[in-house]
Amino acid sequence: MISKETTRVVIEEMFALFPDAHGELVCANEFELLISVMLSAQATDISVNKVTPALFKRYPTPEAVVASSVDEIIPYIRSIGLYRNKAKNIYACCQALLDHFDGQVPKTREELMSLAGVGRKTADVVLADAFGIPAFAVDTHVERISKRLRICRLNASVLEVEETLMKKIPESLWIKTHHTMIFFGRYHCTARAPKCETCPVLTYCQEGKFRMRKKLSTTS
Ligand code: SF4
Repeated sequence: MISKETTRVVIEEMFALFPDAHGELVCANEFELLISVMLSAQATDISVNKVTPALFKRYPTPEAVVASSVDEIIPYIRSIGLYRNKAKNIYACCQALLDHFDGQVPKTREELMSLAGVGRKTADVVLADAFGIPAFAVDTHVERISKRLRICRLNASVLEVEETLMKKIPESLWIKTHHTMIFFGRYHCTARAPKCETCPVLTYCQEGKFRMRKKLSTTS
């Protein structure tokens, strides 16, 4: 694994490459963010952003959701993967918001994770992006980048990746680093075609060096 110091160097290079990294879900408040993040599981932010304007116009509050039904929610999110389960979770989540949280989105991980359809990653994104509470959500991009760069062990679980990142990166940078790593994974170190040739952190990256050697040997 790379050291804490090298991790900081690598992260600074990512900040320089993507100085404006930010969450890409379009939301007006914490309720919309919570629902959008729930919808984004195994779906792209672009696909979620396509359905949420009509969804939130019809359902601006938990009360509006609970006054409706799962079957009525489904047509609004049918283009999103796992839409049946997600519609059920949205309804149950809104019911719980009204029953236990006065219709407000709670501000602790434990309370958020008590809601239907809300796992650790969703809770961390809501804490960080809705309330500015330091958290380090590990999605597929963050996990891939952390492992390619050997910031964490290759066989680390998602929770271990999160714990390692939180140890190696100062708390004040968790939210910024989370967004930057997602941009880095989406637009530079993509799953299928990482841009190793032009990568500012190639010097520190075992995976990148391996890929470059392989490429050279197949072209020579
Ligand atoms: Fe990703 Fe390649 Fe850069 Fe390594 S060198 S971080 S694999 S793009």
